Amino acid sequence: MKALATAWRRAWRGWQGLWRAAPPTIPPTLWQSVLGQQPWLARRTAWEQDGLKQLAEGFLAQKTFSGGHGLVVTDHMAVTIAAQACLPLLHWGPHALDWYSDFVGVVVHPDEVVSQRTAVDGAGVVHRYRETLAGEAMQGGPVMLAWSHVRGGARHGGQAGHSLVIHEFAHKLDMRHKTADQAPDGCPDLPQGFMGQPSHMGTQRLWRQTLYNAWEVHQQQVAMAERFGGEAPWLDAYGATSPVEFFAVACEAYWADPSAFEQACPTLWPLFHAFFTPGQPA
Ligand SMILES: [Zn+2]
Repeated sequence: MKALATAWRRAWRGWQGLWRAAPPTIPPTLWQSVLGQQPWLARRTAWEQDGLKQLAEGFLAQKTFSGGHGLVVTDHMAVTIAAQACLPLLHWGPHALDWYSDFVGVVVHPDEVVSQRTAVDGAGVVHRYRETLAGEAMQGGPVMLAWSHVRGGARHGGQAGHSLVIHEFAHKLDMRHKTADQAPDGCPDLPQGFMGQPSHMGTQRLWRQTLYNAWEVHQQQVAMAERFGGEAPWLDAYGATSPVEFFAVACEAYWADPSAFEQACPTLWPLFHAFFTPGQPA
């Protein structure tokens, strides 16, 4: 993996003394150009776009972008990724970027990456296999993204409700406050009193039961569609893989196409709405 400093970082390095006071601003023309290519971001209210721009500026000041396989990460690419990565943080106040404080690096490859994997089965046999990845979020480590998929705005060819960036950063939300031996489980760290629950255990139980029930229904729908030609669910079939992937896929859908998500996932909507927009009426 070849790491290249981006033009963005080079341009800002000279301003480093100013970063502590306030991150540099994204030029308005660049911001408008990024929004113009992502209608689902451009549809956000002016207040949300302003908040998103500020978050993206903070994100860009804190993170380092590198290109793999000879890719040079342009300012436009970095801002595109930053805007999508920060969207889920929009309503979480001035310390929202702390959710991403466990890592610095964002690695962007031109296309999918083939990764060597090792797995041990129940009998103790070690299996080695190759996996093609469009993106990956590593616990305590960088986020990897394939630019071809970010630019396409979809993992499977431009369907609504997809954002590879939000998918990978949703994994980061899931990993927050989890130790190395505590795998992500689709249940992010929830605030005290979440949805009127009096205890931390109650909030976690509510989230888990609701998400896992919806995941089981999704699994069944995907299986019916694949085996018997039933109607495929609106939510990406990839979510059937595990509760962890279901959470990431649902986060993509919630942010990329909120009204379709509300219709397709009525049990998840109140949960996600309470989590991502605390204090706002459903
Ligand atoms: Zn995933």
